[in-house]
Amino acid sequence: MAAKLIEGEPVAEAIKKQVTADIQALGRAPKLVGVLASDNPGAKYYAGSQEKACAEVGIEYELHELPADSSQADLEAHVAEINADASITGAILLMPVPEGVDARRVQQAIHPDKDVEGVHPANIGRLFYGDFSLAPCTPHAVIALLQDAGVDLKGKETVVIGHSEIVGKPTLVMLLQSIMESPTVTCCHIATRDLAAHVARAEVLIVAAGKAGLVKGEMVREGAVVIDVGINRVRVEVDGKKKTKIVGDVEFDAAAQRAAMITPVPGGVGLVTTAMLLKNTVESARRQG
Ligand code: NAD
Repeated sequence: MAAKLIEGEPVAEAIKKQVTADIQALGRAPKLVGVLASDNPGAKYYAGSQEKACAEVGIEYELHELPADSSQADLEAHVAEINADASITGAILLMPVPEGVDARRVQQAIHPDKDVEGVHPANIGRLFYGDFSLAPCTPHAVIALLQDAGVDLKGKETVVIGHSEIVGKPTLVMLLQSIMESPTVTCCHIATRDLAAHVARAEVLIVAAGKAGLVKGEMVREGAVVIDVGINRVRVEVDGKKKTKIVGDVEFDAAAQRAAMITPVPGGVGLVTTAMLLKNTVESARRQG
C-alpha cells in the first residue's frame, strides 16, 4: 500500500478529550435523549453504542422508547415534551421511524438548541454563514479529518460524490466556507454522466454514496486524498464461510496503491462522526445556559 492511512481514532480521541474538558468547564453533565420508535435490533444496538460513547465523556444518556406504530403526531408530541424539559439538553431521533412518519419533520420539531445532529434549518442556515458550532456530524468529521491530516484545500480540485442533505450537501457548504482558501468543488450524484472523468481529476475525493465498490481503484488520481464516508454491509467468503463485512464506497486496496492518503472503513469517518455527536451535545448544553 502506497497511501498513508488517515485514521479516525486519534482525531476522535482528541475531540473526546476536549469534550470531557468542556463538560468540566460547564459544571454539569449534559443530558442526551435518543428517541426510538422501532423494534429494529440495529437501531437498539446503535442507541447502545451512543450510550457507551456518552458515558465515556460524562454525558448522561436516556433512551425514550415509543411504540413501533407511533404516529407523526405522537412523535412530535414527544419532541414537544423534550423541548419543554429543561433537564434534557439534546435530542436525537433514531432511525428507522414507523411507516408513514416523516422523519425530517420530527427532526425539525426538535428545538435548534437541542439539535445535536445539526440538521435543523436554523443550524443548517448557520453553516451557510460559516458557523460550524452545531454542524451535521459526518460532514464535520470529514472536514476535521482533512484538517488533521494537514491537507491544504486551497484551490484543490475536490470532488464530492453524493448530494444528500445529511452528508453530501453540507460537506459542500463546509468546504466552501473560506473566502480565500476554499477548494474548487464539484458535486457528483446519481445523475452524473461520467463519474470516472470527475474522479480522475480529483486531488481530494470525498465519497458518500452508499454503494460498495462505486469508486474503482484505477479511477483514483495518483496522489489524491481519499475520504470514504460510505458504510456498506457486504457478504464475503472467508475460509469457505459466508461472513458480513463492512466496506466503504471505494475499492480500498486498489485505491490505496494510487492515493497519497486514504481513510479506512471501518476506522475512519465513522469514529469521528460519533465524537462530533458528543461535541454537539456539549454545545447544545452550553447554548441552554
Ligand atoms: P443517501 O442514500 O441519502 O445519498 C446517497 C447519495 O449518493 C445521493 O446523493 C445519490 O445521488 C448518490 N449516489 C448514489 N448512487 C450513485 C452513483 N452510482 N453515482 C454517483 N452518485 C451516486 O445516503 P447518505 O445518507 O448521504 O449516506 C451515504 C453513505 O454514507 C452511506 O453508505 C451511509 O451509510 C454512509 N454514512 C456514513 C456515516 C459515517 O459516520 N461514516 C454517516 C452517515 C452516512
